[in-house]
Amino acid sequence: MTIAVKTLGKPKTTPEALLNALFRPMGIDGVYGRTGKYEDVVEALAALISRCRPTGAEVLRFPPVVSRAMIEKSGYLKSFPHLLGCVCNLEGGEREIGAAVDRFLAGEDWTGALKTADLVLAPAACYPVYPLAAKRGALPAEGYVFDVACDCFRREPSRDIDRLQSFRMREFVRIGTPEQVRAFREDWMSRATAIAESLGLAYRVEAASDPFFGRGGLLVSKAQAQQELKFELVVPVRSAEKPTACMSFNYHRDHFGQTWAMKTQAGEAAHTACIAFGMDRLAVALFATHGVEPAEWPAGVRKALAL
Ligand code: ATP
Ligand code: ZN
Ligand code: MG
Repeated sequence: MTIAVKTLGKPKTTPEALLNALFRPMGIDGVYGRTGKYEDVVEALAALISRCRPTGAEVLRFPPVVSRAMIEKSGYLKSFPHLLGCVCNLEGGEREIGAAVDRFLAGEDWTGALKTADLVLAPAACYPVYPLAAKRGALPAEGYVFDVACDCFRREPSRDIDRLQSFRMREFVRIGTPEQVRAFREDWMSRATAIAESLGLAYRVEAASDPFFGRGGLLVSKAQAQQELKFELVVPVRSAEKPTACMSFNYHRDHFGQTWAMKTQAGEAAHTACIAFGMDRLAVALFATHGVEPAEWPAGVRKALAL
């Protein structure tokens, strides 16, 4: 795998100026109201990515909540329990629910009455697609390509403008033989760099790893990096020294194939990969690079975004 190595320049706009221009505080770190100026860019980015959609891709848009059982079985709870957000609610009749409200009205803690629901907040866009594809039986010879998106939640509160708790993710997911899936990821690593170029972003593509939970997780992270299972396209947003991952290129090998008993025509466990676009990070990166006024962005960038 070839990796583009580049020295990255300083972003033009400071994080404070970005925060003021793009976001409105909602009282919780990493959770923001978004201005019209910002949303116009997010929409333009989404349209640009749609224009690059792989031929034959099946489009699915998922809600921000998914089945808890599905996320448990997917391995997310084992790998990232510290990031998962779980839905809970009050259950019972008028007496039980009313008692909880009364505790609140009396200035006491009412949250002890909450019961865990069968829903969690989606931590990434692609999880629902694997069981869905597996249910169809053996893969067709050409495998599948999906274009998926949803609002995601990760419990990583931060004041940094590029680390949100609630953010949007778009993904192209490939399911097939190891050869099909590796070729797709390789191809998309160069397509994605072309998108970054067209957007006038300074970037670098580097091997990366996920923050697997606990001491055991450290080993998993190391193996992931060594085996080049994850690459990230990083862009200077807060600084050139610590650039921000705006897209990621993930090869899961047969993890989801095994988990969901999803088989190729040859009866082998399917391999999968996903190309993830962090919509909020890409939008923030554009503002950081070109300034807070899209009307003043370079003509080429405005043209690429059809602004
Ligand atoms: P990081 O290493 O910065 O934590 P990640 O490895 O967790 O990123 P992925 O799990 O690959 O990222 O998620 C896919 C994409 O979603 C990322 O490339 C990024 O653009 C976006 N993303 C991930 N976490 C956040 C977040 N907390 N806030 C905003 N965007 C995010
Ligand atoms: Zn994914
Ligand atoms: Mg992360």
